[in-house]
Amino acid sequence: MSRELRGAPVAAAIAEGLRRRVDALAEAGRPPVLAVLRVGERPDDLSYERGLQKRADALGIGLRRVLPPEGCGQGELEAAIRSVNEDDEVSGCLMFRPLPAGLDGEAACTLLAPGKDVDGVTPLSLAKVFSGRGRGFAPCTAEAALRLLDHYGIGLSGRRVTVVGRSLIVGRPLALLLQARDATVTLCHSRTRDLAAACRGAEVLVVATGRPRMVGADFVTPGQVVVDVGINWDGEAGRLVGDVDFDAVAPLVSAITPVPGGIGSITTAVLMEHVVSAAELRH
Ligand code: NDP
Repeated sequence: MSRELRGAPVAAAIAEGLRRRVDALAEAGRPPVLAVLRVGERPDDLSYERGLQKRADALGIGLRRVLPPEGCGQGELEAAIRSVNEDDEVSGCLMFRPLPAGLDGEAACTLLAPGKDVDGVTPLSLAKVFSGRGRGFAPCTAEAALRLLDHYGIGLSGRRVTVVGRSLIVGRPLALLLQARDATVTLCHSRTRDLAAACRGAEVLVVATGRPRMVGADFVTPGQVVVDVGINWDGEAGRLVGDVDFDAVAPLVSAITPVPGGIGSITTAVLMEHVVSAAELRH
């Protein structure tokens, strides 16, 4: 059986490193505050928001909800982002996406002040991920995958890493972060021919497709490390499942992340770290 790469110890180590920094900011009279911008009441968003509130409370980070009314237009959404930009007490902002139909999330993201972009959605943040130069934070989930590999001492330099999924919030930035760590990266997507072979050829396989359990036994080889970024609700099983078929893959590989209990908890810890760093950098 493989080694289970659990997210909780990674998240705990990140949180541990934050406590003193949060205290120092509070003592200086400028406690870190995360603004959460949410339109509507999607159950996923509400559940994630509850998790954020818990984590923020535990660390002494403030959480401020910014709630443009459901059914709002692009103008109201953009006004909400401007209000976040102008609010001196807010250190960073997370906007829940996808937004309701009719709202242009990409356009809205570009308005967020780069210094408050704690989830790497603005062009300047992405430029930092691309070039390694300048200021800005990487998208939290992509960074979370890297932090997990680092925590468990999984070396990247010179290794073959396949990333499945090329979204702007996970696969693409992660591929760049891995390249910056001298991994040899193959980035796959829905048009990749013989995806299973591309996955089998990797020493480290990262999957972020949003397709429940699509990576099965024929995608892996012994000795591989598998990182499953996927979080999908399986109505039939009544539980969360990943993009990797854990039961089929775990017995074959050397290490694998569970779902739930893997990348998700690290993502939130990385977000909190970005908020604290943003607060420190503001002054
Ligand atoms: P997107 O839908 O934005 O992107 C999915 C990517 O997977 C696309 O690049 C798509 O290819 C590719 N893809 C889809 N189907 C296949 C297939 N059959 N074969 C190969 N590639 C495929 O998803 P996200 O990146 O937003 O999310 C991916 C997963 O990560 C989801 O399960 C999501 O729930 C999870 N997630 C987890 C987070 C966490 O904190 N743990 C945070 C964010 C997301 P193409 O570009 O060709 O369409």
